[in-house]
Amino acid sequence: MTYPLEAPASQALFDRAERVVPGGVNSPVRAFRGVGGTPRFMVSARGAYLTDADDRRYVDLVCSWGPMILGHAHPAVVEAVTAAAAKGTSFGTPTPGEVDLAEEIVRRAPVEQVRLVSSGTEATMSAIRLARGATGRNKIVKFAGCYHGHVDALLAAAGSAVATLALPDSGGVTGAQTTDTIVLPYNDVDAVEKAFAEWGTEIACVITEAAAGNMGVVAPRDGFNARLREITARHGALLISDEVMTGFRVSPAGWYGVDPVEADLVTFGKVMGGGLPAAAFGGRADLMSLLAPMGPVYQAGTLSGNPLACAAGLATLRECTDDLYRGLDETSAELQGMASAALTAAGVPHHVSTAGSMFSVFFTDRDVTNYDDARTQDVAAFAAFFHGMLAHGVYLPPSAYEAWFVSAALGPDELARIDAALPFAAEAAARHQAGRR
Ligand SMILES: *Cc1c(COP(=O)(O)O)cnc(C)c1O
Repeated sequence: MTYPLEAPASQALFDRAERVVPGGVNSPVRAFRGVGGTPRFMVSARGAYLTDADDRRYVDLVCSWGPMILGHAHPAVVEAVTAAAAKGTSFGTPTPGEVDLAEEIVRRAPVEQVRLVSSGTEATMSAIRLARGATGRNKIVKFAGCYHGHVDALLAAAGSAVATLALPDSGGVTGAQTTDTIVLPYNDVDAVEKAFAEWGTEIACVITEAAAGNMGVVAPRDGFNARLREITARHGALLISDEVMTGFRVSPAGWYGVDPVEADLVTFGKVMGGGLPAAAFGGRADLMSLLAPMGPVYQAGTLSGNPLACAAGLATLRECTDDLYRGLDETSAELQGMASAALTAAGVPHHVSTAGSMFSVFFTDRDVTNYDDARTQDVAAFAAFFHGMLAHGVYLPPSAYEAWFVSAALGPDELARIDAALPFAAEAAARHQAGRR
């Protein structure tokens, strides 16, 4: 079974979309600019499968960029959201579901209190505001290739979508907004020490992805997060661990469960919303109590803690048992082995990079420890590989700089389908590379 390159129904929708939505999409990486071709418009999804407007089915290895850890339309989540919707969709008051979800997060992760928001971007933006409010300092440190949402001050060397589009920076972000942002190479403790030696009394916080996933997956070196903890503490700065991608995905406690370094503030999103807009930031109660209405740092949201989103998130987290994570680890390892075997057989240089059950396949022969390494990959060969997989019914992230996301809905049938698709895609990548030599 092979799907044709043309996708008439998706194309018709994309033509309409391009007239009324910039680039035809509401988030840039969806536009297929990194791989070429027409983005597929999905009309429904169930379990491990997406169905597009041309009625083609794909095994989904994007999982809405992380949230759909249980697979799509999981009965427990659908039931929870339906029940919540029937009781009214938003009240603009505190609701019981918010307390349940906050308790579940506090039970799992190293935070005493959380504030719920609607996107990962809001979570990191608010955490940085809180860090600056708490320390009375202006400067922040981030790492090249780490993405923390489209916060003005953080749109410097920001990985994935920005890398895919080859935008060195973002228009509309002023010098004033990034002048206090120090960008350092990921996994480089010496660079962090040097920055603190120079600006130590001015740095409010270091923000880091708990394990990087937005330049493709790049794990922190052994002890890297612990050194960040030690250096920030020594200089009176805060450490913000961004677990928006890793949180509740790689273990019941997120990356903290793998690499137990306690940050001052932690951000969450993706899995904790179960496919609805919910995110959070949290930390010690003394820090969190600096937020309005208790303290001077303002933060708010009309739909924050929305009852539908809380119901979806809580239902999802309740299904995320130790067993589920064990299964994800196994599925992920199996997929990595299959992908690597197919690429090796086709003679395509590659490097499988992992962080817990998260992984990505870099089309390069070198080890990837930072953004410069990630950028050595052969993006055009990835594009050929991507379209080979798509034609054989497997939906990969449409960018070489992304994690491949697994869900608990992937079973033997889906793995067999992926295994059958891989040799075709690997051959396509090999032909592409041979054609250029
Ligand atoms: C996705 C992501 C964000 C941004 O979350 P949005 O919900 O897209 O705003 C922030 N940080 C990390 C690590 C992410 O992966």
